[in-house]
Amino acid sequence: MILKVKQTFSAAHRLMKHSGLCQNFHGHSWQFVCSFSGKPDCGTGMIADFSKVKAMIETQVRRHLDHASILSKQDPLVHFIHNMSLKMIQIDGEPTCENLVQWIWKKIEDGLVQSGAGKTLKLESIQLWESNSSSVLFEGPDEKPKSK
Ligand SMILES: [Zn+2]
Repeated sequence: MILKVKQTFSAAHRLMKHSGLCQNFHGHSWQFVCSFSGKPDCGTGMIADFSKVKAMIETQVRRHLDHASILSKQDPLVHFIHNMSLKMIQIDGEPTCENLVQWIWKKIEDGLVQSGAGKTLKLESIQLWESNSSSVLFEGPDEKPKSK
């Protein structure tokens, strides 16, 4: 059975290497859906308590990203944002949907280990939406390339 939790956050980013509008600093109302596999417990009837899963995601991911600037470590804006003491996340590579979903994946994997929830939940995928029409689906670092 798959348990899914959807979260939202607002954040700004820019893609330095993009040749179009996305090279400009701009914001999105992002959404992501984390899918975990597990078996319902005989006693509780639940795979996991939704509130505990959401609390873990809040601690590991959402509170860091919400109203943050998400920038490449190479972006010159990093120094400006840092000097202004504004909220910022620096990631390796361009802060694309594809790279950000992998950052989120690592944080949630860490959260599963730290909270002990990893004993009953396995992270299967994360879908990150940058807009209502654009998203990426990440199925983990070992995901197999899909045939065309
Ligand atoms: Zn964007």
